[in-house]
Amino acid sequence: MFDYLIVGAGFAGSVLAERLARGADKKVLLIDVRNHIGGNAYDHYNADGILIHKYGPHIFHTNSREVFDYLSQFTEWRPYQHRVRASVDGQLLPIPINLDTINQLYGLNLTAFQVDEFLASVAEHRDQIRTSEDVVVSKVGRELYEKFFRGYTRKQWGLDPSELDAAVTARVPTRTNRDDRYFTDTYQAMPLLGYTHMFERMLDHPNIKIMLNTDYREIEGLIPYREMIYTGPVDTFFDYSYGKLPYRSLEFKHETHNVPVYQSAPVINYPNDYAYTRITEFKYLTGQEHAKTSVVYEFPRAEGDPYYPVPRPENAEIYNKYKALADAMTGVHFVGRLATYKYYNMDQVVAQALTLYRKLAGTKPEKAPTAPVHKETVPALVSNANGNGKPRK
Ligand code: FAD
Ligand code: UDP
Repeated sequence: MFDYLIVGAGFAGSVLAERLARGADKKVLLIDVRNHIGGNAYDHYNADGILIHKYGPHIFHTNSREVFDYLSQFTEWRPYQHRVRASVDGQLLPIPINLDTINQLYGLNLTAFQVDEFLASVAEHRDQIRTSEDVVVSKVGRELYEKFFRGYTRKQWGLDPSELDAAVTARVPTRTNRDDRYFTDTYQAMPLLGYTHMFERMLDHPNIKIMLNTDYREIEGLIPYREMIYTGPVDTFFDYSYGKLPYRSLEFKHETHNVPVYQSAPVINYPNDYAYTRITEFKYLTGQEHAKTSVVYEFPRAEGDPYYPVPRPENAEIYNKYKALADAMTGVHFVGRLATYKYYNMDQVVAQALTLYRKLAGTKPEKAPTAPVHKETVPALVSNANGNGKPRK
């Protein structure tokens, strides 16, 4: 008899499997319909021996020391600060929009103070920031919104920014300084030997049995267990009883090129041209040295594997009905990006899973640190790795 059947071996399912097995001595059956662990964070070496992310670029960043320390038990890290360029008007410009973006776009030489004034002069006033359009036009005005956000968002979501919650484009800040990092979190690093290797270490415990290529419905009535933890799409679990909850999908086109470097930045966004949203070159992220290089193009799709919840009021309404069903169930716990319909990053999913673990195990969180910890003092960070954002040849 298993104590827990955990459906889905991504971050949510794997963190709970690890904690319940190692922390609470529970017997766990972890299953996934895919033929691998790691969920959407799965990475592997392709036919040419280049480490790639099967489901698109995954860059780890967090402000949570608890999450970082937790994962550091299972991996060393390669410091990595992510940088993105947007292809706009024939130039590759820093995104998030910053001082250099504006100066390069318009051929100007403004100071930070002058850029502040410029943005204030073009920003459109909004009494209330409700949508993803409001967020951007209220900060940078219509022209920059149209060049950098409108087309990308319509492509990515199949919706106009005015139809999406503010939180979607609010993920990308606006800056008047020259900081061109995509994230500013305290901890920014990639698992030194990859995500899958980290998952393997997490799940290496005699209390954890793993079953791949298996939909939980195939074994539900056959293998006895006390409680279930479910990390798949919540509408599927309830047989779409309140209708389909939209999840945005992507098609990934992976390519390997016989050159050491393919493009001038780790990720290039294409807000206005082409059917794809962005191209990622993995060697920048992983620091791998190789004579060839692998890239992935992302083509947004309405159908296919569920990757993104679609944050907008009508979907929240449907989700809340499913949530009421989920809350009323005993012995089944819903966690993760698909099961709680939240546009969560990896670290947020880890935090959510650790919170559920504490609830299940009846333990309290460890005392939070009183002062922020600098990266230099974290021994798990590998200090001599190539963290300068340039790919190794
Ligand atoms: P998942 O990883 O989706 O795991 C759920 C698992 O459940 C899947 O493996 C699925 O096969 C399995 N499953 C579903 N139904 C069943 C069933 N019926 N039976 C058995 N198994 C089932 N986050 C970041 O922090 N940084 C990034 O740079 C970043 N980039 C991203 C890029 C892309 C293109 C995408 C799509 C996501 C990105 N994310 C990023 C988000 C990150 O992928 C998620 O936060 C995280 O992987 C969610 O983990 P999860 O366990 O909730 O879900
Ligand atoms: N976005 C945009 N232009 C960009 C980058 C982002 O319009 O150059 C918008 C778009 O709606 C996108 C959202 O901001 O879906 C969040 O961007 P992020 O890079 O966080 O997306 P993710 O990596 O989660 O796909």
